[in-house]
Amino acid sequence: MATGKCPKCEKTVTRLKLEGVDATEGFSTGGWKAVTLLCPSCSTVLGAAIDPIAIKTDIINSLKRT
Ligand SMILES: [Zn+2]
Repeated sequence: MATGKCPKCEKTVTRLKLEGVDATEGFSTGGWKAVTLLCPSCSTVLGAAIDPIAIKTDIINSLKRT
């Protein structure tokens, strides 16, 4: 059972809302697909990560090109 609480609305976070965002390094263009993990009640960002599905696809595509 989930017991973690959102720091903003203090509701117990039983699930996370995923939102796709772009992650870039410095001023470079392109970058990676990432996701932010949001509180489903108030949409506060609780965490962020590189999109694991998109990064897998990107790696496979770049290997195919070489
Ligand atoms: Zn919240």
